[in-house]
Amino acid sequence: MSLHSDAAALLDELVALRRDLHRIPEIGLQLPRTQERVLTALDGLPLEITLGENLSSITAVLRGGRPGGTVLLRGDMDALPVTEASGEEFTSILDGAMHACGHDLHTAGLVGAARLLAARKEDLPGDVVFMFQPGEEGWDGAGLMIDEGVLTASGKHVDAAYGLHVSAASYPKGQFTARPGTLMAASGALEVRVLGDGGHGSSPHDARDPIPAACEMVTALQTMVTRTFDVFDPVVITVGSFHAGTRRNIIPDDAVFEATLRSFSPEVAARVGERAVRVCRGIAQAHGLDIEVTYEPEYPATVNDAGAYEFVAATIRDVFGEERFTEMADPITGSEDFSRVLERVPGAYLFLGACPADPATAPDNHSPRARFDDSVLGDGAALLAELAVRRLALLAG
Ligand SMILES: [Zn+2]
Repeated sequence: MSLHSDAAALLDELVALRRDLHRIPEIGLQLPRTQERVLTALDGLPLEITLGENLSSITAVLRGGRPGGTVLLRGDMDALPVTEASGEEFTSILDGAMHACGHDLHTAGLVGAARLLAARKEDLPGDVVFMFQPGEEGWDGAGLMIDEGVLTASGKHVDAAYGLHVSAASYPKGQFTARPGTLMAASGALEVRVLGDGGHGSSPHDARDPIPAACEMVTALQTMVTRTFDVFDPVVITVGSFHAGTRRNIIPDDAVFEATLRSFSPEVAARVGERAVRVCRGIAQAHGLDIEVTYEPEYPATVNDAGAYEFVAATIRDVFGEERFTEMADPITGSEDFSRVLERVPGAYLFLGACPADPATAPDNHSPRARFDDSVLGDGAALLAELAVRRLALLAG
């Protein structure tokens, strides 16, 4: 039996697991109910399991029957602070939390890969590390798991790493896609508080008004992008939150805003925050205002190793057929903490279309209406297992 057909036989079980997880979406680094459900699903498999100390991660090591290298497979497990409006019958029972990014499918798919590989354990030349990760959505769960030793969980450093992300829109159901080199953006957070002196709205000359200066910063940041950075090494800045004042005739003491900054090369990632801070400080100074401004880098760019990308693409074409894989023309501007793993281990990350409707119009990941077709779970699990089997065989030479 092939992994592909074994995975098809597991599909009902994986769909049931995914829907259980979907009902209990948990946010952040502590996902106790999710962790418990996954441990139940892994129960009875020949795995060496370690639980995280500072996060509710699960690291599971499968020992192959023969010595060899180590391959890491990763699935993130956390949900988002979104109130679900998908209309699914297995909708979230927790108010204000939803698996709107499909990480419930990633978790179930990784359990599927563990089941498939455990059944072939004796034939494996080497070990497989299953990385069940909380806190992808901004908590750097991958970084914390690396700090707690996931890359050396088998006793040796991991030789290769793979992960995949499902998509509720953009790609047709069942379509795999990726690209060599930079796949996803680096991200950082800009936080600004412009400090003035409040007063009567009719007498701005007697006050120091923070609002016009803060507005100027918002537009100047966009000008900075086009005047400072190479158009072929792009930057995206979005001010996603802006708050000031209470009423039209009151000048407030301060104005606050936050922006997300995205970039694609290490050179630009290293400069963009400092440039943005400089623009904001300069405008505050020009208007005689004080400012508190910080920039925090978040995730680095997600970069696929060229060889690992070729290996993944060839594996998909071989297992599922030529038409199931498309190379992406451009990176996407989302970011991802699997980048932390790919900074340290040659590997690849890819996308799997899970759109149940027309990908051109379906609600995308993170939407309260996002829906994911879990019939792709068998193929997702089969691919992860296949990558481990083939990579271990290559490592064994
Ligand atoms: Zn996600």
